[in-house]
Amino acid sequence: MSAPGVADGPSLAERLATVTDRVAEAARSAGRDPGELTTIVVTKFHPASLVRELHALGVRDFGENRHQEAREKAAELADLELTWHFIGQLQTKKARQAREYARVIHSIDREALVAALATGEPTVDCFLQVNLTDDPGRGGAAPAEVEALAESIAAAPALNLLGVMGVAPLGEEPRPAFARLRGIGERVARIVPGATSLSAGMSHDFAEAIAEGATHLRIGTAITGNRPARD
Ligand SMILES: *Cc1c(COP(=O)(O)O)cnc(C)c1O
Repeated sequence: MSAPGVADGPSLAERLATVTDRVAEAARSAGRDPGELTTIVVTKFHPASLVRELHALGVRDFGENRHQEAREKAAELADLELTWHFIGQLQTKKARQAREYARVIHSIDREALVAALATGEPTVDCFLQVNLTDDPGRGGAAPAEVEALAESIAAAPALNLLGVMGVAPLGEEPRPAFARLRGIGERVARIVPGATSLSAGMSHDFAEAIAEGATHLRIGTAITGNRPARD
């Protein structure tokens, strides 16, 4: 729950401060400037009121992974200046709607999605999502498809490619997975100069992601506490 002042455990402000400190520490031990990192707080399943509390604590970047929920929250919070990041699998037929609230889409992983977003308004920043597992059912393009997809995105006037995004596979050390992602990102940056950002790192692996060059962290539970059950 997001109720402030719950007796058990640290408050939202304390968890946010702890994560902010740990992010800065991981950056410094990687020889990086913490100021070059964007922490996106993932608020999926949580009510809009939690986003409001985080906004009051200074957070401006928020991540959601379901279109319907994201759209409702963005509408409810239209009075705040927020940057919404769409981080979940996106249905092709919902893509244009997602662009109405999301300034950044982290999950561009197939040609059909590029085609749906290639033209129209507004232009959206995006990441090419790479599947780091061997399971083709997971979100993300297979590493072998990445160059062709990057070329399609580069040719899409309404898409601005920032870099690559990935989720470390369960049951594997995250750091080598992020190293693979970084290498794939370097291939993409050869096709789209300037697309050098890396969206990687969640509550349990952001330090490893920072060590491998992550620029955009997607952190949920370490800041928000456990997600409420979905109904
Ligand atoms: C939920 C989610 C996150 C955040 O996960 P936590 O473990 O809660 O930090 C990050 N990225 C994606 C794609 C997610 O769906």
